[in-house]
Amino acid sequence: MLILISGPSGSGKGTVCARLMENFPDLDLKLSVSATTRPPRPGEVHGRDYFFMSREEFEKLVAEGGFLEWAPIYGYFYGTPAGPVRDALARGESVVLEIDVQGGLQIKEQFPDAVLIFLIPPSRKVLRDRLISRGTDSRAEIEKRMIWVDTELSFMFRYDYILVNDRLGDTVFKVRCILEAERSRARRFTLPGGWRT
Ligand code: ADP
Ligand code: 5GP
Repeated sequence: MLILISGPSGSGKGTVCARLMENFPDLDLKLSVSATTRPPRPGEVHGRDYFFMSREEFEKLVAEGGFLEWAPIYGYFYGTPAGPVRDALARGESVVLEIDVQGGLQIKEQFPDAVLIFLIPPSRKVLRDRLISRGTDSRAEIEKRMIWVDTELSFMFRYDYILVNDRLGDTVFKVRCILEAERSRARRFTLPGGWRT
């Protein structure tokens, strides 16, 4: 299963995914590591948080068809390396992509069966407050992110699910419920071994 989590910067995508994997290792989710031309924030690790690269390196990978999708966001490029996702899906694993709406819609075209989840914070004010208290971006960077919020929200009705990320525990529980329901869909069902003999 391919699972996409989108939402404005600061909506909680990273936090929700991290909590989901920590609380529910049985889901065995693999988080795709994106490439970006954005400089690393303090504490971010190349290969764990992102593959940090120059614009030239990024464009070379685009030309080689190395991305499943890519998009310009907040003045930088971001993209999903194709190889690891395709390999994981071929092994029957579930992969989570934490990507923006432009990338989300590109993925939906290529993988109509993907599960698209959109996160919004309870209000614009809460979003700004969370970006400020995250402490990773300058005020100018935060305002640049806030400018895009309305555009990002205008895409949310093209997603399968929309969750208001108010209380973290509730949001994580709801994502788990969505994944359980999606896994139980008749079209994804495979007969247990005992029924095949
Ligand atoms: P994103 O990955 O979407 O940019 P983050 O996961 O980094 O967002 O979350 C932004 C900030 O909001 C972080 O400081 C995080 O701890 C906080 N946060 C996320 N979800 C919640 C929540 N439900 N309640 C309170 N704070 C939250
Ligand atoms: P940040 O700079 O805060 O880490 O991420 C900024 C935005 O880029 C977020 O909305 C995030 O979802 C998006 N993003 C991260 N990786 C990718 C990717 O591989 N593709 C696309 N399209 N967006 C991404």
